[in-house]
Amino acid sequence: MFATLSDRLADTFKNLRGKGKLSDADIDATCREIRIALLEADVALPVVKDFVAAIKERARGAEVSQALNPAQQVVKIVNDELVAILGGETRRLRYAKSGPTVIMLAGLQGAGKTTLAAKLALWLKDQGKSPLLVAADLQRPNAVNQLQVNGERVGVPVFAPEPGNGVGDPVGVARASVEEAKRKLHDVVIVDTAGRLGVDAELMQQAADIRDAVDPDEVLFVVDAMIGQDAVVTAQAFLDGVGYDGVVLTKLDGDARGGAALSIAQLTGKPVMFASAGEKMTDFDLFHPDRMASRILD
Ligand code: GDP
Repeated sequence: MFATLSDRLADTFKNLRGKGKLSDADIDATCREIRIALLEADVALPVVKDFVAAIKERARGAEVSQALNPAQQVVKIVNDELVAILGGETRRLRYAKSGPTVIMLAGLQGAGKTTLAAKLALWLKDQGKSPLLVAADLQRPNAVNQLQVNGERVGVPVFAPEPGNGVGDPVGVARASVEEAKRKLHDVVIVDTAGRLGVDAELMQQAADIRDAVDPDEVLFVVDAMIGQDAVVTAQAFLDGVGYDGVVLTKLDGDARGGAALSIAQLTGKPVMFASAGEKMTDFDLFHPDRMASRILD
């Protein structure tokens, strides 16, 4: 991810090397190249516009610095603005003050929710928590089984519907799981919900009903970073239909151009909280905007 964007930005900055002071024409030319690089990386147009305007304003107003030459100064400005559009500070999970913390996952089918549920469970276990995974995706025939297999891999129990107990009723399963967590003293409940291939009203309603039933502390929107511009459209649809507190980007290990990752926080106003970058259960961590910016500008 981001290889092309990284290369293009590096080329742009190379042209500034050795310059004693940047003229307005230098800054304009640099901003034009940054704009093209971002658009080619699939970053959404409004985000590109704001980003380039901010760079231009700051670069023109930059004081002559002892510590940084003009080229380095531009790199620093781009770095700061990248961190800002990626959400600034790392946003950590908020835990419930009493009773189990309920985390609900929402997103399209194939986004990586079921895989992510298990990764998050393992991550929480490593933080000393005692999570319970909940199979409330009853749409996809294999989803319950997949969660059970993944739960076993990470050593976390899975609450799944059984005959006579919530079969066909994802809202009931989700509600019952919170009671189960209280009984068995789990401190975090991770509810995996159903997705469809595209956004549809029924899916949204089901997710909203589950949300109302479990009153989550955090709703996380899970999105495949490989789907490019569509990610932004889907993110907005879920924001309107279900609402969420944070975003999880999956498949960051892919070779997509990365624009989704760069656009989503800015356009939705919701922070990217976690990133998933591979098929292994440990390929998962908090999302750090500053590290991502450094990676792009490396
Ligand atoms: P769901 O329909 O949202 O529950 O999605 P799944 O968890 O079933 O994931 C869909 C596919 O994406 C599966 O083949 C996963 O192995 C794969 N997958 C999930 N997360 C990642 C990731 O971070 N990187 C890669 N390369 N593949 C992933």
